[in-house]
Amino acid sequence: MEVFIEPIGRLMNEFSKLPGVGKKTAQRYAYRIISMTEEEAREFAEAIVNVKRKVRFCKICGNFTEGEICSVCQTRDPSTVCVVKEPKDVVALEKLHEYKGVYHVLHGVIDPMNGVTPNDIRAKELLERLAAGNVKEVIMATNPDVEGEATAMYLAKLIKPLGIKVTRLAHGIPIGGELEYTDEVTLSRALSDRKEL
Ligand SMILES: [Zn+2]
Repeated sequence: MEVFIEPIGRLMNEFSKLPGVGKKTAQRYAYRIISMTEEEAREFAEAIVNVKRKVRFCKICGNFTEGEICSVCQTRDPSTVCVVKEPKDVVALEKLHEYKGVYHVLHGVIDPMNGVTPNDIRAKELLERLAAGNVKEVIMATNPDVEGEATAMYLAKLIKPLGIKVTRLAHGIPIGGELEYTDEVTLSRALSDRKEL
């Protein structure tokens, strides 16, 4: 027999869909919701629905945005494009307050073992964007793991014939590590010491 009454069990089940949330944590979250006022609980629920309704992908870079085009694409130097795997990598780089160019979010990296081909990431969109001209440098800022390196090499091979300089974040980010978990000093140095591919 289930030890939780249905509404609590149901809420716990929803929380346990979140990354890193096990049964214990889901229970703690559910109990916290129960202790909220109805108004607080409604605000919480509305924030979830709202984020789904309002957040979409920028038509140019693929990052999260509220409008059609994100504020980075609207205001920054479009001659340098930094290519990253996911929106969270943009956050990691933006925290440095150093980079003045724009981004291109791939929404994945090439991973043949798991069936992810170049067609499954926003590679074609990147090439179309570069073909429009005006880009002088593309910085490959995918993670320094096998898939990230392979993706950087694959794209560099396609981009270089366009006469665009292609660079890679310098080493210093631990091999197999992720931008997201790299400290800001290391990430900042990796960006400024980037090497031409
Ligand atoms: Zn954008």
